Amino acid sequence: MTKQLELPVQKNEEVEFDITGLTHEGDGVGKVEGFTLFVPQALPGERIKAKVLKVKKNYGYAKLVEMVEASPDRLEPPCPVYHQCGGCSLQHVSYEEQLRQKTIIVQDNLKRLGNIEHATVHPTLGMKDPWRYRNKAQVPIGEEEGGLIGGFYAQRSHRIINMESCLIQHEKNDEVIELVKRAASQLGISAYNEQTRKGLLRHVVVKVGFKTGEVMVVLVINGDKLPNQEELVNQLTKKVDGLKSLAVNVNKKQTNVIFGDQTQIIWGEPYIYDYIGNIKFAISPRSFYQVNPVQTEILYGKALEYANLTGNETVIDAYCGIGTISLFLAQKAKHVYGVEIVPEAIADAKRNARLNVMENVDFAVGEAERIIPWWYAQGIKADVVVVDPPRKGCDETLLDTLIQMKPKRIVYVSCNPSTLARDLQILEAGGYVTKEVQPVDMFPHTFHVESVAWLSLKE
Ligand code: SAH
Repeated sequence: MTKQLELPVQKNEEVEFDITGLTHEGDGVGKVEGFTLFVPQALPGERIKAKVLKVKKNYGYAKLVEMVEASPDRLEPPCPVYHQCGGCSLQHVSYEEQLRQKTIIVQDNLKRLGNIEHATVHPTLGMKDPWRYRNKAQVPIGEEEGGLIGGFYAQRSHRIINMESCLIQHEKNDEVIELVKRAASQLGISAYNEQTRKGLLRHVVVKVGFKTGEVMVVLVINGDKLPNQEELVNQLTKKVDGLKSLAVNVNKKQTNVIFGDQTQIIWGEPYIYDYIGNIKFAISPRSFYQVNPVQTEILYGKALEYANLTGNETVIDAYCGIGTISLFLAQKAKHVYGVEIVPEAIADAKRNARLNVMENVDFAVGEAERIIPWWYAQGIKADVVVVDPPRKGCDETLLDTLIQMKPKRIVYVSCNPSTLARDLQILEAGGYVTKEVQPVDMFPHTFHVESVAWLSLKE
């Protein structure tokens, strides 16, 4: 108790102070007599009154109670359920300011965690229209008097809140989800209840090809069969323009994982198609595909530019997923080798290579940190390596192999600026220099930030 009194703030106290920064969770940060407080929803440039909720040794959390001076970048969030949903975290901030903050987050991480100040960090590339950008919706289904509801889980719970429209979803996805809810209610299809583990429909997943307009609907059910399946198919095929594929996925497990292991096409084709640039991709019910196709094209375009290919290069694409970046690079390289840990993704990658009649690519299943050293031992030596790891970044064994292999260029695509900074520092110690970093906004109104970095081997 006596110790706490020495801190400049105490629990439940109300304090007035300036917000000077934003964390990458989207919380405002400010100081009261040198003591750091995090305040959700507060913005840099604002003066606020806040109630202290939690005090730790070096920092605390507070709740915004009164706005003394609002930031000119503060907006009324356009989504009516913004504060309940938790899907977006920056709708109360102007889009220009969101982009500015994302650039600052990347710069700050590179400097603080990677000691990298010499690289040019370009301003974040944003969208002309930062709404309705998602091509995939995954909506949990529940029941209310009068029928099925679907939308999102209330924050920190599994209570489903109904939502008719999500402003970051393609309109088509909204429309199809409403149709499925209505048709399934009418046909007496029940919703799955997590507590009792009874009821049938768990999730509705809708995917739409932005360039083709093709639509796929996947119903995830807690059972083997949909009752009145024929009638449901009938209604959806009549009402959904562009519908190409209708599937049922069986998930009877007590789990938060959306999909179960069995998927059956109940109507139409096993795939829908979409394009990124000139490359055609087949999208199946389970396959991974970038959710913001507009910005993906910009991100991959930048990766291709940084790879600086002339047509004579051997390229490795590590963490290649369904081969999206590999195929993009293969247009301008002699040969591309892709590696990815998920076997289904590699099956998709091979299919996509055939679909685009690209013969200068090879794909392997396995851990990048095991396959690439093995390739190197077989004499495969890349001129350019692209890595696009998950949030935890690259395995150190992989970075060590790259340092030995000495490709002229490394292009690092990252969804996490802190692991990017850590890995760039390792590569710099191994003889590379980070030249440029381009953040790209793949997920407007959320705090996620993607970047692509270009490293060159020092002469
Ligand atoms: N480059 C792809 C996917 C990037 S997401 C695209 O742009 O679409 C990161 C990918 O890394 C995922 O597909 C994940 O399955 C894969 N992955 C995770 N750990 C891995 C590892 N140790 N080795 C290879 N791939 C891995």
